Amino acid sequence: IITLSVESSCDETSIAILKNGREVLTNIVSTQIDLHKKFGGVVPEVASRKHIENIDGVLQEALDEAKIELKDIDHIAVTYGPGLVGALLVGLSYAKSLAFCLNKPLVGVNHIEGHVSANYIAHKDLKPPFITLIVSGGHTHLVEVKDYGKYEILGRTRDDASGEAFDKIARAMGLGYPGGPIVDKLAKQGNKNAIDFPRAYLDEGYDFSFSGLKSAVLNYLNAKKMKKEEIVVEDVCASFQEAVVEVLSQKAIKAAKEKGYNTIALAGGVACNSALREKITELGKENNIDIKYPPVDLCTDNAAMIGCAGYYNYINGIIDDMSLNAVPNLKIGQR
Ligand code: ATP
Ligand code: MG
Ligand code: FE
Repeated sequence: IITLSVESSCDETSIAILKNGREVLTNIVSTQIDLHKKFGGVVPEVASRKHIENIDGVLQEALDEAKIELKDIDHIAVTYGPGLVGALLVGLSYAKSLAFCLNKPLVGVNHIEGHVSANYIAHKDLKPPFITLIVSGGHTHLVEVKDYGKYEILGRTRDDASGEAFDKIARAMGLGYPGGPIVDKLAKQGNKNAIDFPRAYLDEGYDFSFSGLKSAVLNYLNAKKMKKEEIVVEDVCASFQEAVVEVLSQKAIKAAKEKGYNTIALAGGVACNSALREKITELGKENNIDIKYPPVDLCTDNAAMIGCAGYYNYINGIIDDMSLNAVPNLKIGQR
């Protein structure tokens, strides 16, 4: 089965072609990061326009690289939420017209379920059930993956997403956008015990909170500036990152143990974070829990992960029609 998938939920225009769900023939990602950098974040209107400009070229490149013709495609998969409505509509309308013209089934995909499915591409032997820790720019969830396409949310952030916290503290220090990769890099030269930032465990549950930590970092920076004291950016990055990583890792391990799972898969852009990978792998070893994560290029937004999730929808008979609309606040496991 050949899947052609389209992703345009935020600031990446991406089209992938997959064989039997897990074999990536091509995964073209055209990122708009440079375009949004000067604004310090994604500007929705600018993103939508750029998707329109990019998408034809991205499709052509994907077909060329995969050496596939449109007539060889069995179905079209497309992100229909969550994301920026204008951005989503570009990919969705494009996918609908392809499906209509080629007379092939259209399969709507939840972007967050796509992030989780990146693990199926990276780990050919991975099968549900398992626990997934979803840590992206807009989401932080602890979820039981009961089966392909079947999710049960155990906990979620009550305020900021983890990626958002990285981006916001980086912005406060003038480090550039997106903040996550920069903070990760600077933290390597810093002391993670230099500053004692708060960790929000929120008692026994599986929920998260990162806005208190973010405020603590901002207050720390302001106090230092007021007192005209030197700020060691590397130490701030390392200490902040440690606070995030400690809570994420411990809660995920706790969930796996209490719910009786021996595999945790990381998903989303923050799954690129080197300290998170290291810490949770270490805790996993101590607790006999296998830790999996996708390579960096499959953690951040890409169409291959959407194609994989779409493939499982397709073989399970989940197919949409031309009335499919963008759902900006679509929840995981929701249809
Ligand atoms: P969502 O998937 O929730 O809709 P999104 O698509 O914008 O949001 P992703 O593409 O999954 O988010 O991830 C982007 C986020 O990942 C950004 O917040 C970015 O800072 C963060 N990120 C990327 N690399 C790293 C890293 N090495 N360390 C920490 N965070 C990182
Ligand atoms: Mg992005
Ligand atoms: Fe994403």
